[in-house]
Amino acid sequence: MQNVASEVDFHLHTTASDGELTPTELVEAAVQAGVTWLAVTDHDTVAAVPEMQALCSHNGITLVAGVEISSRWQSQDIHVVGLGVDIGQPHFKDHLAAQMQRRRLRALAMGERLEKLGIQGVFQAAAAIAPQGIPARPHFAQALVDAGVCKDRKQAFQRYLAVAKPAYVKTDWPELEQVVNWISAAGGVAVLAHPGRYKLTRTKLGRLVEAFCAAGGQCLEVAVATHSPDMVQYLAGLCVKFGLYASQGSDYHGPSMRWVQLGKMPPLPSCCRPVRDIL
Ligand code: AMP
Ligand code: MN
Ligand code: MN
Ligand code: MN
Repeated sequence: MQNVASEVDFHLHTTASDGELTPTELVEAAVQAGVTWLAVTDHDTVAAVPEMQALCSHNGITLVAGVEISSRWQSQDIHVVGLGVDIGQPHFKDHLAAQMQRRRLRALAMGERLEKLGIQGVFQAAAAIAPQGIPARPHFAQALVDAGVCKDRKQAFQRYLAVAKPAYVKTDWPELEQVVNWISAAGGVAVLAHPGRYKLTRTKLGRLVEAFCAAGGQCLEVAVATHSPDMVQYLAGLCVKFGLYASQGSDYHGPSMRWVQLGKMPPLPSCCRPVRDIL
């Protein structure tokens, strides 16, 4: 594995979205892992930030208020991380509230799909284990496992929840450009999340980065735990070509996904300008 331990991790989830650790437990895990600079980046929410602030400063950890927002570009779901956002900004709060409403409606529609397939009560079970009663797909996956329908969460995605599977519901996420604008207007740095995970050809990936750049995006997530060494090099090249900063993050969701560890990711290539320089 090319992943190495780093003191910097700018992509992390908690129980405020689909992570397994509470915000407090995540800070404790960061201390254990020797991470001293972290960004919490839950899906479409900044709810974990206040709980983590005092605890991070008590432990000598620099906390970056972050978020991972779902967007749309050419009918693809694209995630945009915002680093250093002002979580109290009224417009930004409204945008995130609207995202949660989209998530709520999508979850209800997913529950209906499953009912039509003869699988009852999954929305209720998923809502019961989800923050604010608004389940993301991993909560549905867990509910399908708990109900004995699937043997593990991976199978739940493969059979029901992944793109184009029977319980998948296409969501009307805002355009990539809008999401970049929300983040910039809230004083944050917009980062194109895990560009290597969208299964795009290199030509299309180049076009995505161009569109992201034109929208005002400033940074690519280059060093991601699940990126291959080739992908890291390719993205580093795109950063140089487009004058973008580079970010690094594990996209850690908790201990049950053993192949992703907090603070572990490929090293950032030396040609990259690290995003930490502007945070
Ligand atoms: P959502 O934001 O509700 O669409 O859920 C997306 C989340 O589900 C991602 O952030 C991952 O944590 C998880 N996920 C997506 N695809 C898979 C998959 N094929 N297997 C397991 N987890 C997945
Ligand atoms: Mn997730
Ligand atoms: Mn993501
Ligand atoms: Mn993530």
